Amino acid sequence: MRKKIVAGNWKMNTSLSEGVRLIDEIKTIINQQSIKPNCEIIVGVPFTHIYAISQNLKETSIFVSAQNCSEHEKGAYTGEVSASMIKSVGASFCILGHSERRQYHAETDEIIGKKIELALKNNLTPIFCCGETLEIRENNTYFKLVNSQIENALFNLSDEEFSKIIIAYEPVWAIGTGLTASPQQAQEMHYNIRELVGSKYGNNIAHNLSILYGGSCKPSNAKELFSNPDVDGGLIGGASLKANDFVEIIKSM
Ligand code: PEP
Repeated sequence: MRKKIVAGNWKMNTSLSEGVRLIDEIKTIINQQSIKPNCEIIVGVPFTHIYAISQNLKETSIFVSAQNCSEHEKGAYTGEVSASMIKSVGASFCILGHSERRQYHAETDEIIGKKIELALKNNLTPIFCCGETLEIRENNTYFKLVNSQIENALFNLSDEEFSKIIIAYEPVWAIGTGLTASPQQAQEMHYNIRELVGSKYGNNIAHNLSILYGGSCKPSNAKELFSNPDVDGGLIGGASLKANDFVEIIKSM
């Protein structure tokens, strides 16, 4: 079902005690201000924090996400963490295909597709990231690129599997740069994604798909971005590390 979602992506930040403190601050602000969020809240934490933070959040409606998983099910893959391991320590979601994984860890659409399948098999909801670099934006091939990322990684899924996916459109030129896509740029890409999904899976599945925007989303621009008809929330990097900013973004929904 189509949901409004605000998801944090902590990336490789915070020690465990800092992470727990951040979660405690977020919960305190939500309680003190008696906020009744209009959206699902997810925190994408480092692997090392998933168990403790899931336990900490047990009595709340905040969900925990991993930021990656292995493309292998199990076995001799030193240093890797499987989807089933992630599920077993309490995460419900898994961010996959983030541009930093594509850029620094050579993740291709094919590898990301394998990760998506394993996440789904282990009852983790994938938050699939796509988005173009500045060069692609400037040479006007961004629709083609984003469509190919989605087609290559996701379009072999069944209707039932695809219905469980969340897509995050994250223009690479806006991630961590302070540059944000304008509300119009976000809306036109989200509309394009929904149309593409509709052409493959039908209008019902496309209508029910949550499409998040990511890229320097902050309290000052969240409301305008989220007010677009095809923007169902945000994937938040830097601003999710500040409890006040993250809660302000939640309140913008
Ligand atoms: C991200 O990395 O997913 C992201 C959106 O980062 P930021 O908000 O810092 O641009």
